[in-house]
This record gives sequence, C-alpha cells and structure tokens, in this order.
Amino acid sequence: MKFSVSLADRVKNLPPYLFAAIDMMKQEAVKKGVDLIDLSIGDPDIPTPGHIVQRMKKAIEKPAHHRYPSYEGMLSFKQAVADWYKKRFNVKLDPKTEVLTLIGSKEGIGHVPLAFINPGDAVLVPSPGYPVYPVATLFAGGISHIMPLLEKNSYLPDLDAVPRSVLKKSKLMFVNYPNNPTSAVAGRDFYKDVIDFAAKNNIIVCHDAAYSEIYYDNRKPLSFLQIPGAKDVGIEFHSLSKTYNMTGWRIGFAVGNANVLLGLGKIKTNLDSGVFQAIQEASIEALNTKEPVLENIRDIYQERRDVLYNGLKALGFELKKPMATFYLWTKVPKGFTSSGFVTHLLENTGVLGTPGNGFGAPGEGYIRFALTVSAKRMKEAVERIGRII
Ligand SMILES: *Cc1c(COP(=O)(O)O)cnc(C)c1O
Repeated sequence: MKFSVSLADRVKNLPPYLFAAIDMMKQEAVKKGVDLIDLSIGDPDIPTPGHIVQRMKKAIEKPAHHRYPSYEGMLSFKQAVADWYKKRFNVKLDPKTEVLTLIGSKEGIGHVPLAFINPGDAVLVPSPGYPVYPVATLFAGGISHIMPLLEKNSYLPDLDAVPRSVLKKSKLMFVNYPNNPTSAVAGRDFYKDVIDFAAKNNIIVCHDAAYSEIYYDNRKPLSFLQIPGAKDVGIEFHSLSKTYNMTGWRIGFAVGNANVLLGLGKIKTNLDSGVFQAIQEASIEALNTKEPVLENIRDIYQERRDVLYNGLKALGFELKKPMATFYLWTKVPKGFTSSGFVTHLLENTGVLGTPGNGFGAPGEGYIRFALTVSAKRMKEAVERIGRII
C-alpha cells in the first residue's frame, strides 16, 4: 500500500517561518553554554499576581466548573469585562451581546476572518505586525493587502494609499495599538479616520488592544470604542495575557459590535467549547486587580525600558522611547540587515533580539527587543552591546 500525507494548500502557502534560523542559533548557543540574554520573547517573565492564583485554587474545587462551559462565556465574567470597560474607558457595553469570551485573543483574531471572508475577499493587514493577521486571512481564503507601518508616518497605516480596486474587495481590517512590534500608540484623530474609512467602505474594523494596559509615564492608551461611531463598524480584542501576566492561562475577550461578535461566535460554537469556567472565575478577580498591583508591574517594565532606551541611545542607536508595550523597536546599525545584526549580536554578545523583517517586509532594517528580563540583566545586555558597537 502506498500511503502519502500531503498538506493542504493553505498550509503549503504559509509564509516562510523567518524565525526558524534564529531558533536554531539560539538552541546552539544554549548547547554551547553561552550566557544568553534573551530579549526575543514576548511573554512576561513576572508571575501572575497572587490574588488571581488564590481565586483559581478555590474555583477549581467547584464541580460545576468541571463540566462544559457555556459557548459564549459566563455572564459573570462578561459582566466583569463590561464593568472594567466602564471604569477604564468610560465605555458602556451590554455584557450579553457586546462581550465575547475568547481562549486568548489569538484565538479570536485567528477565527474572525472565517466568519466574514469569502475566497478572494481582501483583508487590510498592518505590516510589520502580529503574524496571525495574514495567516488567519490565508486560512479563510482571503487575500492580505499589506498596509506598511512606516516610521515617517509614526507607524500608522496610510489609509489613503489603499487602492480603490482593493477597497472594493475589502471586508475587514486589522489595527493594533499600542503596537507590536513598533510600540507605537495611536491617538483620537487616527481612530476617527479609521471609523470614517470603515463606514465609507463597509469594512469591519478589528482593533487588537492586547497592550492597552502596558503603558508608561501614566499616559493611558485609548480604547478604539471610546471614539464615537466605533461600535457601528468594529470590535476590539483584549487579552488578560499581558496585563496580568497570564499568557499560560489562555483567556481573552472581544467587545463591540454585536453583529460582528455574533458572527465570530458562530465560528467558535462550531469549533471550540469555550474557556474552562474556573479560569473565567479567576479572571473576574484579575479584572478587579487593585491599581497599585498594576502600577508595580508597569514600574518594573518602565525601569527596564529606561535602562535599555538610555543605553542604546548613548550607543548611537536610532530609536524612539516607547510610550507603551514591553517592546523597544530600533533601527539596526548601518551596513547590517535585520537578520545580519541579530546574528552578529548573538554570536558576539549572547544578546538575542528579534529581526524586524520577521514581522513583515516593511520591518527590514529594524530589530525588536522585549523588556522581559530584569533591569540588572538589561544593564548587562547594554554593556555587552556597547563592547561590539
Ligand atoms: C500577545 C499578543 C496577542 C495574543 O495574546 P493572547 O495570549 O492570545 O491573548 C494578540 N495580539 C498581539 C499583538 C500580541 O502581541
């Protein structure tokens, strides 16, 4: 018998995994015993706050939570989301129709094109950006139209640059601020433009706000839904992962336009069975975290940011001070490509960054550093980089 396994076109057509070479180099360095300072990981190194873990311990004892959860999420969790939105953004949400629980925001982002994209439809995708946007589009049979995020435009997409022929086919767009990987933030005027653009061209806006709570100098980022008209055209994705150091727990949520959430919910009902209710219960506790606990987390990142930003600036790197996210995005020194510089750094200093082109072609010439090691290690990283620059 001749048996062969052949991948579907949608898998064969996946973009090349640009981090594969880096992953190999990292493994080799570790094997050789290099004292690696890994600034390539977008995953908080700080543990989940204790009060959330304590609530989980109690929640896990409840037999009611051991059964299938409700598809769309527990009402008590969705009510906690609505309360948090009111308090944080002064935005009113109906917990029944305008909040949807997700198995991490990645799950919702990955599924949303399946609900709205027919083969051949276009999705507007920012680049450099979170790789899930173009991949989710591909899996739904859609075509990604890249919106380059350029330094000269403060890393905001130029909506006027989208060709008319693309607009006619466009059904959905992804927007992400505070931005991964550039750490840019967006203001009210930009969101107003997005809403006008979306309304005029009938494009669903999916705003990814995973980093809305990782900000500096007390400058709080906006929610897309704070801008009038936003709820008519789109939804916003949030994650407990970055805000509460809960990446391993897998919970997030989408809020906003009820019809868009209904469409996304239809996909989910047919593919997954919701979030473990004990996690939803502990997440209610998370959403009610006292301000000083969050301030403490932000202070930790801010100290690291200052060490790395000031250090790299003094070494002559061209970069802007991040106002949000736990990333620092900087041009690589003249004469290097993104990958070339990452390799050079790793081989000569043991410091690992992420090549900017891994987030899309417009990221070429940049490197992303994550602020996910202690300030002490960050100082050490700056010292080591200083020796080879
Ligand atoms: C981390 C991240 C997410 C996903 O987080 P989840 O853990 O799936 O909630 C979404 N968008 C961006 C830009 C991210 O960096």
